[in-house]
Amino acid sequence: MKVTEVSCKSALSKSGLGFEYALNPYRGCEHGCTYCYAPAVLRETRPWGQFVDIKRTIPSILAKELRRRRKGLVGIGTVTDGYQPVEQRYEVTRRCLEQLLKIDFPVSIQTKSSLIFRDLDLLQQFSQVDVGVTITTLDENFRKVFEPRAASIRERLAALEQLNAHGIETWLFVGPILPHVTDKDLEGLVKAAVQAGVQEIFMDKLRLKAGTWKRVLNGLQQNAPELIEPFRRVLWGKTDYFKTIGNQITNLCRSYGIRCEVAFESALG
Ligand code: SF4
Repeated sequence: MKVTEVSCKSALSKSGLGFEYALNPYRGCEHGCTYCYAPAVLRETRPWGQFVDIKRTIPSILAKELRRRRKGLVGIGTVTDGYQPVEQRYEVTRRCLEQLLKIDFPVSIQTKSSLIFRDLDLLQQFSQVDVGVTITTLDENFRKVFEPRAASIRERLAALEQLNAHGIETWLFVGPILPHVTDKDLEGLVKAAVQAGVQEIFMDKLRLKAGTWKRVLNGLQQNAPELIEPFRRVLWGKTDYFKTIGNQITNLCRSYGIRCEVAFESALG
C-alpha cells in the first residue's frame, strides 16, 4: 500500500448523489472493492486499492470554505471511504467532522468500516446526521472476493447496531447488487438490517464504468470463476435480473416493516 501525504486546493465539491456537497478526505481507498466506480469518476490510473493520498490540509481548507458556503447536506465518502484503515492513524475524517460540527452542517456518511464508531462523540452532537453502511452479501467468503480489505460483515452489522443504540440514524446500502451473490440470502440480509435497528435500506444494481469489469473479472478469475458466465449473462444478456431482485428486496422490506428505496426504480415493476 503506497500512502502519500498530499496537499489539496479545495475541500467541498459538487455532488450529483443527492447531497449539496461531497467531501472526500482521501484519494484512493485501501478497501479495494473490485466493483468500485471511483477510479472511473476520478479518472485515476493508478492501481485501485493499492494507494491512498492523505489530504492532510483538508480540515483547515474546509474550515475556510464553510464560512462562505450556504448550509447544505455534506456527503462524506462519495469516492473514497473516510473510515478506511489509514483513518485510524491520520484522523483526517475526524478533523473534518470537527469543522463541520462547529457550524452544524448536516452530514451523511457512507462507509464499510466499524471505525466510524470511534467518532460517536462527534456524531451525537450534530443536529442532523445519518450513517449508511454497505453490505452486498452475508457470505464472508464472497465479501473477501469483492471487498478484499474492508471490514467483515459481522463488524459492519455490529457498527450499525451500536450506532443505533446510541441514537444515530442509520441505513443499509445493498449495493451494488452482485449477480447470484447478493441474492443468496436476501431475507437474511433484510432481517440482519432490522435486527441491527436500521431505519431504511437503499439498493443499487452493479453498474459498469470504465475499468470496472476488468477488476471484477480479475477477482472472479482468481476466486470464483464459476460466477464469470452468470455475471456476463446478467450484465450483457437480455434479462430482468436486477428488476426481479429489486422487487424481492422491496417485498421483504414491506413484510419486515422497513423503508426501502431503489436507485434504479424505473427498472422496477
Ligand atoms: S469502500 Fe467504497 S470507495 Fe472504497 S473501494 Fe470500496 S466502493 Fe470504492
